[in-house]
Amino acid sequence: MPYYEFRCRSCGSFDSPHPMAAVPDVSPCPVCADPAPRRMTGGALLHTGSTASRLLDATARTAEQPAVVTAPPARTTTRISRNPLHRKLPRP
Ligand SMILES: [Zn+2]
Repeated sequence: MPYYEFRCRSCGSFDSPHPMAAVPDVSPCPVCADPAPRRMTGGALLHTGSTASRLLDATARTAEQPAVVTAPPARTTTRISRNPLHRKLPRP
């Protein structure tokens, strides 16, 4: 069930879950119970578990908490082919 944002004149904004088919224009404030009109806001994009969302989360996390390393990364060994036919292949 999606959350919709409402704004109470005296208490401020709050979110309230409602079914998409029955979103009220006014919801009672949870603090003072005054009727609060619904605010028109952009939709929240939720990407849970996808590779793109994990990359975005990791990127945002490194902006605040960069990983500290104590040594340079280990060198990776390149595989060298011993097949003589591979010598005829074009080089980059
Ligand atoms: Zn209120």
